[in-house]
Amino acid sequence: MTKRYVLAEMMHETNTFSPQLTGIDKFGRVSPTGEILSGQDAIESFGSTNTAFGGFYQLLEERDAQVEVPLVATAWPSGLVTDEAFEEMAGRIVDAAATGPDAMFLALHGAMVTQTYDDAEGELLRRIREVAPDVPIAVSLDFHLGMSPDLCANATVVTGYRTYPHIDIHETAQRAGRTLLASLDGFVEPVISWGVLPMMTNMLRQTPLHQPMKDIMDRAIEAEASGEVLTASVFGGFPLSDIPHTGLSVIVVSDGDKTTGDRVRDELLSMAWERRADFVFDFEPMAVSIARAAALDADALDGPIVLADHGDNCGAGGITDVMAVLEEVTKAGLKDVVAGPYCDPATVELATAAGVGAELTLDIGGKVDMPAISMQAKPFTVSARVAAVSDGRYPVTGPMGTGTTANIGKTVLLETDGADILVSSLPLEPVDLGFYTHIGIDPTARRYLLIKSRQHFRAVFEPIASEIIPVAGPGVCSEDYSIRTFQRIRRPMYPMDIDTPMTVIGN
Ligand SMILES: [Zn+2]
Repeated sequence: MTKRYVLAEMMHETNTFSPQLTGIDKFGRVSPTGEILSGQDAIESFGSTNTAFGGFYQLLEERDAQVEVPLVATAWPSGLVTDEAFEEMAGRIVDAAATGPDAMFLALHGAMVTQTYDDAEGELLRRIREVAPDVPIAVSLDFHLGMSPDLCANATVVTGYRTYPHIDIHETAQRAGRTLLASLDGFVEPVISWGVLPMMTNMLRQTPLHQPMKDIMDRAIEAEASGEVLTASVFGGFPLSDIPHTGLSVIVVSDGDKTTGDRVRDELLSMAWERRADFVFDFEPMAVSIARAAALDADALDGPIVLADHGDNCGAGGITDVMAVLEEVTKAGLKDVVAGPYCDPATVELATAAGVGAELTLDIGGKVDMPAISMQAKPFTVSARVAAVSDGRYPVTGPMGTGTTANIGKTVLLETDGADILVSSLPLEPVDLGFYTHIGIDPTARRYLLIKSRQHFRAVFEPIASEIIPVAGPGVCSEDYSIRTFQRIRRPMYPMDIDTPMTVIGN
């Protein structure tokens, strides 16, 4: 008999310090139309893409199965998800669960916080269990999350990305999907072991490409590849979330052998704990980083110097309109800079109304106050010539989200004395060079590229850059803990509480 599977994607990384609420209108980000898609439309748009949805779908497509898609909903990281948006999205998934499918495959993030729920994914799984107590559920998660009891207790298989930049999103879904399908076929019996440490890691120290994370992730990969366990995943955690389950975590799925699963989990957690001091990052002040860039002989270098402002990165919930780093770059006298994109729909409207070739004085960015970090918005005032206008849509060819269409809304290129400034109507973390080329910029031919990103830019910028300089600009993504007050995280928590004992929450 043909099996019936439910496949859904609901993803958001919530930065609880951002003042920007995330409504339902933001969840069509990956869709070509900007709308949340479902059913056959979703399959046609995402079934063959390098996404978690695509990863699951391509496995299910090989089976003689009917695949039902209640929704594919993904928003840029930002502030709390509205209750209305969560109820709409979760409602559609829970309704699909209530129809009695043979299994469910869920592409989730793991760091969604709503106006009501600290643990939106856990709440979703809990509600699914109310209407479908026995349905097998595979879940794929991001690397940046807080692992919660409700999520782990109600899923059958859970996997997480093992890369940062995240270039294994598709594979992560397939690891979860294959394991669940093997269990449906009676070959394996998944059992979850999980744990969270009282330890926040700096995102600039998290990548499994380098130590201290490399050995830990390598060990997880080995445990899985050798067949010791079915899947093993390590999560760096998301330190920009003031919720009780923030922290570095591990989830292991063993084949009916919780003792082995627990042992691998404990080994991975212990490795992370022993290295906790190496996950702390010493920030260089913004002005020092810019001075370092200015001191380089840009003309003698092969390729642009990339300045990566990680304090206001929309990929971690930043507003993408903090102009402090561009102001500093201008003050330092850097020339031949391409800066942006900055998200400022009002400036885009003014510039497009004036038209290409028009010269005008603009207050770029700096429109949103950030009370949680006591920061007031401050625009960058500059005389500019409108050099180009675009609709902000282009195909993604880089390794993240390959095959999808990027949509940054109407976008303008403004030429100023020091920098060419890209201003968009929607936020974007530059993980693909299309945002330059679609508006006529050749990034390889410029001296300085000033972007807002922490880590994801590396996949496409490392091959073209002569130098990469991280810049600790201000904003809600700054990991300078002194600018923010955590009220709801577990305490003691390393590194805020230096003598924190290793107390694991888990099963
Ligand atoms: Zn992530």
